[in-house]
Amino acid sequence: MKKRYEFLDLGKVNAPFMPEIEAGVARVLASGRYVGGPEVERLEEMLREATGMPFAVGVSNGLDALRLIFRAYIGLGRLRPGDEVIVPANTYIASVLAVTDAGLVPVLADPDPATMNLSADGLRMALTPRTRAVLTVHLYGRPAWDAEMEEIALKAGLIVVEDNAQAIGALSPGGIPTGALGDAAAFSFYPTKNIGALGDAGAVTTRDEALARAVRALANYGSDRRYHNIYEGFNCRLDPVQAAVLTAKLPHLAEESRRRQKLARVYLECIANPALILPDVPAGGTHVWHQFVIRLRDRALRDRFIAYLDTEGVGTDIHYAVPPHLQPCYRGRFDGAELPVTEELAASVVSLPISSCTTPADAREIAGIINRFNPDTL
Ligand SMILES: *Cc1c(COP(=O)(O)O)cnc(C)c1O
Repeated sequence: MKKRYEFLDLGKVNAPFMPEIEAGVARVLASGRYVGGPEVERLEEMLREATGMPFAVGVSNGLDALRLIFRAYIGLGRLRPGDEVIVPANTYIASVLAVTDAGLVPVLADPDPATMNLSADGLRMALTPRTRAVLTVHLYGRPAWDAEMEEIALKAGLIVVEDNAQAIGALSPGGIPTGALGDAAAFSFYPTKNIGALGDAGAVTTRDEALARAVRALANYGSDRRYHNIYEGFNCRLDPVQAAVLTAKLPHLAEESRRRQKLARVYLECIANPALILPDVPAGGTHVWHQFVIRLRDRALRDRFIAYLDTEGVGTDIHYAVPPHLQPCYRGRFDGAELPVTEELAASVVSLPISSCTTPADAREIAGIINRFNPDTL
């Protein structure tokens, strides 16, 4: 039987952590404390330590982390409905959903084709007199914030929010961890992320005490103390069972990043096929390779390439085939937006296996299979 190189198998990813996870979950079960409590506090402490940010709030998931940040800024009067927020057009739709959910206006910026991320030029071009914030997304695990972008944001007086769902553990070119690059950051611990829970989970980090308080209150019915509601809030709290899973896994973050970096190096060294464009490696800082995303030079070949890999036993995925501005829910919303790079990426990208189900030897073999792809003879 032919060998399969699966794209991702979460059971296998979590198997090595099971003794620690089971011990953590057992602590919660025995504690009688099933909402909030010490496991959630411990995770928040670990996130403060990992980022150096003074405040961290565990929440229900990554989308809620983003929604709560924007709604908290509105609650504090620092953003107003109708204000413009620059968002990269090449992102998972949750980034945009959080902005529109808060009644803010997303202004989509086409990415730099080399990094597939927001750039200083993209930021500059999307700026208008109504811009009040930027949501940068460290897509695929690559930090999308540098000194030039910082200067633009500072000059324009923008609030800087990070969507750090895909880049936990990465460092900016200036050596600062993602999640500590702006005013506030959203984390997702969705099971497929570099550090994944066994269900939904997320967090907010911030350097702003008032924002941290507002996020915490909004996530807890808008209540700042018992039976006292200062906002029309939600229930977006972090489940302590998931917090216990995460406190077991988070100490292994550096290993996880190194493992992904090793696989990325193998792919970058071994893949040599003129039909493909390999991802760019940042000159400074670190990339944590949430996804290893290659592109077909000729987008018309993508379906054949994926079918060929599948026949050869290699699982793949596409992040993302339909960009947010072309989703049915936003019909009519982004009419006239010219986002040629985003649309080209959506049509040409392919993600290769890079989870802990893949070994460096597998990556070498996958590269060999990829190098034998010849569109002229297939
Ligand atoms: C996963 C993800 C989210 C949403 O996180 P959830 O925990 O799934 O709600 C937001 N933004 C990006 C870029 C993501 O990859």
